[in-house]
Amino acid sequence: MTKAAHILVIDDDRDIGELIAATAESLGLRCTAMTDAAELPRLLTPEVSLILLDLMMPRMDGIEVLRMLGQLGSSPGIVLMSGISKRVLETAEMLARSLNLTIAGHLTKPFRLAQLEDLLRGHIPQDKSPPVRPCSQIEVTEDELCSALYNREFVLYYQPQVDIASGTVEGLEALARWQHPRFGLLPPDCFIPRLEALGAIDSFCWLMADQGLEEARRFASNGRPAPRIALNVSVQSLKDLKFPDTFLGLAGKHSIPAESIMVEITESGLMQEPSSTLDVLTRLRMKNVQLSIDDFGTGYAMMQQLVNIPANELKIDRAFVENMHANSSDRVMVEKTIEIGHELGMTVTAEGVENEAQLEFLRRRGCDRAQGFLFSRPLPLAAVNEWLKNRHVRAAQA
Ligand code: C2E
Ligand code: CA
Ligand code: CA
Repeated sequence: MTKAAHILVIDDDRDIGELIAATAESLGLRCTAMTDAAELPRLLTPEVSLILLDLMMPRMDGIEVLRMLGQLGSSPGIVLMSGISKRVLETAEMLARSLNLTIAGHLTKPFRLAQLEDLLRGHIPQDKSPPVRPCSQIEVTEDELCSALYNREFVLYYQPQVDIASGTVEGLEALARWQHPRFGLLPPDCFIPRLEALGAIDSFCWLMADQGLEEARRFASNGRPAPRIALNVSVQSLKDLKFPDTFLGLAGKHSIPAESIMVEITESGLMQEPSSTLDVLTRLRMKNVQLSIDDFGTGYAMMQQLVNIPANELKIDRAFVENMHANSSDRVMVEKTIEIGHELGMTVTAEGVENEAQLEFLRRRGCDRAQGFLFSRPLPLAAVNEWLKNRHVRAAQA
């Protein structure tokens, strides 16, 4: 077993600390940010594998902290952060080495989120990629789920959806996470099936919709139109005939226009409940909410049923994208989905795009949008706003 990774950040700028911690957590790493190095001796446990240290701090500067780390006999790698000249950084690195400390890299401020992610990714233990724990090892009780709803322990992470031809970020998909008091950040597979089984999925759906629409107002726009927000909705919640009115009421409360919202429903869910949900879906479409059929290819929809669903988007399930280069039937599935979607006048989005080869294949087949780790992992609101800002700056420079 690799030792559990814990990252410490020492930066007097609280925003930077929070950004780094959020990015690390989105990669499944534990991270604690502090603004005052005096806390360091208490937090420096044997689990700490990396320290990100700002050199310029008012109370105790980075050089003093390096000396303290030397005295504590600290073994974790150290990343020096600074907006000052390269020479000062090099001198600080020399000093660190003379104190028997290990320098693991440096970040020159302002840094790009991609640089930070690359640096942190190198610290993901080899036997452990996010999400951190398999759900099968986690026993959550009904009481814990109810108090999580009550205490609002569920948070949304956002993943960009990119137009393949232009590179524009068109949407952000909201993906739920549970900030569990004992287990840390848990992925949806650990709680959505349980919430559905308990009959609590409606409460969860409204909580997430309220949070997502509230946060969508804060998507950084930099003078550009804010990307659309995509919300996942369980088909169980669509059985309620009042769903469209309640949903639009909520959008109105947060001043988000209906056309800026995409509702994603899984194909398998739609096939279970074709008639009762059709009424609700049609009314949502009539009110201009965008509809997406998620995980397409896994639910055995018939062409006839597909024609009846008033959707704007088909999302190719990531399993097909993952295997399309190795497996010809998956490749055919991807090609056919793009064709069917376009024949029905829908936009086609591929999810789970992890490399350039996959993106290039999708581009050549005329797929409209892509989403996946190639662009970004799902990130917390502050980090996704930073990601959007960096992307806009780079686009403007190009
Ligand atoms: P989904 O809607 O198909 O979401 C895409 C999943 O693929 C996400 O997993 C995302 O983290 C993952 N993913 C994205 N890009 C890549 C990639 O390049 N490679 C790989 N390997 N994976 C990638 P996540 O966040 O664990 O979500 C799992 C499922 O949970 C979602 O699948 C969705 O069906 C459900 N879910 C998430 N949030 C909500 C919610 O608020 N409400 C409901 N009802 N369901 C939700
Ligand atoms: Ca989805
Ligand atoms: Ca999907």
